[in-house]
Amino acid sequence: MTLAGKTALITGGSRGIGKAVCLRLAAQGANVGINYVSNAVAAEAVLAEITAAGGKGFVIGFDVADSTAVQQAIKSIEGGVDILVNNAGITRDGLMARMKEEDWDAVLNTNLKGAFICSKEAMRGMMKKRWGRIINISSVIGCIGNAGQVNYAAAKAGLIGLTKAIAKELASRKITVNCVAPGYIVTDMTADISEELKEGLLAAIPLGSLGTPEDVAAAVAFLAAEESSYITGQTLHVNGGMHMGN
Ligand code: NDP
Repeated sequence: MTLAGKTALITGGSRGIGKAVCLRLAAQGANVGINYVSNAVAAEAVLAEITAAGGKGFVIGFDVADSTAVQQAIKSIEGGVDILVNNAGITRDGLMARMKEEDWDAVLNTNLKGAFICSKEAMRGMMKKRWGRIINISSVIGCIGNAGQVNYAAAKAGLIGLTKAIAKELASRKITVNCVAPGYIVTDMTADISEELKEGLLAAIPLGSLGTPEDVAAAVAFLAAEESSYITGQTLHVNGGMHMGN
């Protein structure tokens, strides 16, 4: 499943799941664009790891919710983007009754609008080449909901709808568009989960453990491969069996 000759752009590639995706796609031969918004040092460290392993990559900082910045950044990528992984995401949790409008806007802007903006810009080159992969990182929360995460659940459910609609629009150009919906994965985002909550979660996960960023990266690599060219508009659940979605 080589990705040699392909350029991949991973938003939020500096840490967590995005970092694992960068390392995995680079190991399979892709030239990997490591995006970050604030943590340039972490992004450079990912690049150093890739090059030390004999891979290729570059660091590319921008805010996915800033359309001007996204346009400039993606235009600067020589040869365009073949594989786009919309992974950048944030949480601003709180019960609905107390949730501030700015917390709703921040999460929707980064997690959903960001994917729209990046996909719109990256797909131009894919359409010309008549080949492309767009992989959106949704979440189990977008499928089952969660108290205290109305903004996050709405954005992640929205990504699944966005995926199906773009998949239909781009299918004639041989561009596939899919979602990966992780369950609970050990990253900075889930670092604050209490031991008590973790115990409850583990009881609800048939495979009996939280996931790793590498588990998610393997699913992304599968969907990015040439061999997956007949799969589009789908959501691949990577959650240890916690939710068996369709
Ligand atoms: P982390 O918090 O570990 O990393 C988030 C990444 O997103 C960082 O690289 C960060 O960059 C980047 N980022 C945040 N905002 C922006 C922005 N506006 N523009 C560009 N980059 C941005 O998150 P995870 O690795 O845990 O999560 C990655 C994705 O997976 C998210 O979409 C998340 O919702 C989803 N997910 C995670 C799960 C989990 O259990 N961890 C479960 C299900 C889904 P910087 O380093 O510069 O801050």
